[in-house]
Amino acid sequence: MEAKAMVLEKFNEPLVMKAFSIPKLKEGEALVKIEAAGVCGSDVHQWEGRDPRIRLPMILGHEGVGEIVELKGEKKDVYGNPLKSGNKVLWSRGVTCGHCYFCKVKMEPSLCTNRWVYGIHTTCAEPPYLTGNYAEYLPMDQKVDFFKVEPDTDLQTLVPASCSGATTAHAFDLSRMESGDSVLVQGVGPLGVFAVAFAQSSGASQIIAIGGTEERLRMGQSFGATLVMNRNQLSKKERKEAVMDITHGLGVDVAFEMAGELDAMSECISLTRTGGACISAGFAEPRGKMEVDPFLDIGRKNLRIQGVWVSEVRHTHMALQLILSRKDDFKKLITHRFPLARADEAIKAMKTREAVKAVLLPHG
Ligand SMILES: [Zn+2]
Ligand SMILES: [Zn+2]
Repeated sequence: MEAKAMVLEKFNEPLVMKAFSIPKLKEGEALVKIEAAGVCGSDVHQWEGRDPRIRLPMILGHEGVGEIVELKGEKKDVYGNPLKSGNKVLWSRGVTCGHCYFCKVKMEPSLCTNRWVYGIHTTCAEPPYLTGNYAEYLPMDQKVDFFKVEPDTDLQTLVPASCSGATTAHAFDLSRMESGDSVLVQGVGPLGVFAVAFAQSSGASQIIAIGGTEERLRMGQSFGATLVMNRNQLSKKERKEAVMDITHGLGVDVAFEMAGELDAMSECISLTRTGGACISAGFAEPRGKMEVDPFLDIGRKNLRIQGVWVSEVRHTHMALQLILSRKDDFKKLITHRFPLARADEAIKAMKTREAVKAVLLPHG
């Protein structure tokens, strides 16, 4: 049996559709029929050759949902449900070793030194070849953690839980945001939209979203932002006045940088109150250096600056449950759908920011 997949052979050039034979499963492995694969902002960076982790040729795609069509041996999902052929599943994208310093001692598997992800660290030049989500089928390692979902679930809607949703859940975990807090979200792409949704479900009193496109700001509003500001229409000074106005002149309790822009980061620092927290999850690649006054911006403010790198299984669970609790809203997050053969158009739609979230449907 063969499966088609979209292969990145050369950076900045169209992906090539290729057929791979589906390998025989080993004990504990599962074969998943990919029903939807997410196109992430990182896929754009990878396609452009800006991600040092990747090795060509490769099958892109680290976000997916699908149906288990074959299992070798017994396997349970993270909730303890025995998995069977025909089950609809989401899975945690990061596979970790369970025995390094970060896994074993610090209990922070997201920082595992041996962590790897299908469609990022994998090449299709070596077995098992079929190793990315831009494919009809994906044979999965026995270490992959699955989440079984109800058979009638609209699977496409769950795709963003695996990367942007999980990373944002990690950001919330680290933020220690409390009910009643005022929250600022910089950037309203998938990460920012999830941040707005998590802030609302965690009882934020104010959710201020700053972004650059009207469509994305409207999306932020529909997810619960109480004030949206277009950075192309309001000056930095006007934005600051608006934030101070609704936070008793203090600044926000927690700011989430979800844009990956230096200006967004410095604005987050300037709009966070004394003793507040500034959480940065937007930078997926180096974007240069910024100026910070360690006395005024950090020390005197008793400011907590927290970086966020990828996510853990618990965060995929948090993102999945958030989506399931607001299915109709999250359905709107998927703005573009393409068949597998048109993956290049999906990458382009993400690159130009025309799409908030694009997905590939390998089986139509
Ligand atoms: Zn991603
Ligand atoms: Zn580890």
